[in-house]
This record gives sequence, structure tokens and C-alpha cells, in this order.
Amino acid sequence: MTDETIVCPSCTALNRVPHARLAEQPKCGRCGRPLFTGMPLAADTALFDRLVTRGTLPVLVDFWASWCGPCRAMAPAFAAAAARLEPRMVLAKVDTEAEAGLAERFQIRSIPTLLLLRGGREIGRRAGALPEPAIVEWAGRAVAGA
Ligand code: ZN
Repeated sequence: MTDETIVCPSCTALNRVPHARLAEQPKCGRCGRPLFTGMPLAADTALFDRLVTRGTLPVLVDFWASWCGPCRAMAPAFAAAAARLEPRMVLAKVDTEAEAGLAERFQIRSIPTLLLLRGGREIGRRAGALPEPAIVEWAGRAVAGA
């Protein structure tokens, strides 16, 4: 049985969880809080790096900014997608104003941009706002095809 390493969204501790038990609402071994919240994580650079380099699940990232209308319009769809895509993957949001270095590292040219990473490697990218079913379908296909 394969284990996954999950970064706790509350305390960032690393937790090993058997893949087959991901859906059983696992809790953090350190702080006791749920490892999956059904909501995207607001990731700063430190949490982002931990999620993509230490966590083993695919990470779907929404690069956004508060001044961006299409980003704000997509936010409810991305939140709904988190509820459907967890625990197959982890969803995170990166504020490109606060974390300009991350946007530069991944050469984000327009927002919103969805970036999908696994094992620290980019496996998918899509610019522009999407409705929730399209986010779920695109991310699912990108993970399956990677
Ligand atoms: Zn924790």
C-alpha cells in the first residue's frame, strides 16, 4: 500500500497517510486538526514550497490578485472545486501581489492562471477563469495524463 505525505494546512507538519485512507478524513498527528478542509489553502511562498516539494499529492494552484475581476469571479468555482478534488489533490491560492516572486518563478503572464504541480514539477497550466466543472475536469485529466 502506498503512503502519501500530506502537509497539515493548520501547522504544516508532514503526515504519512496510506493512499487508500485519504478519504477517511485523516487528522494531523501533531495538531489534531483535519488534513483536508474542503477549501483552498492561502499559500505564501514557504507553504507553497512545502506543499510542492514535501507533499506527495498533486497541487492545483490558482494564481490570483484582489484587483483582478475575473479572479474574484472564479473564486467560488475554485473553492467548490476544492471540495470535489480533495483528497485526490490539494488546492491552493497564491496572491500574486503578496508573493510576486512565485509568480515570477513560474512566469505567470496573466491571471487567473491555474498551475498543476506534482513532485515539484509543472504538469499542467491553464490561463483564464473557468467554471467549477471545467476546473475539476481539466485537473483530473492533467493528473491522469501526467
Ligand atoms: Zn497540524
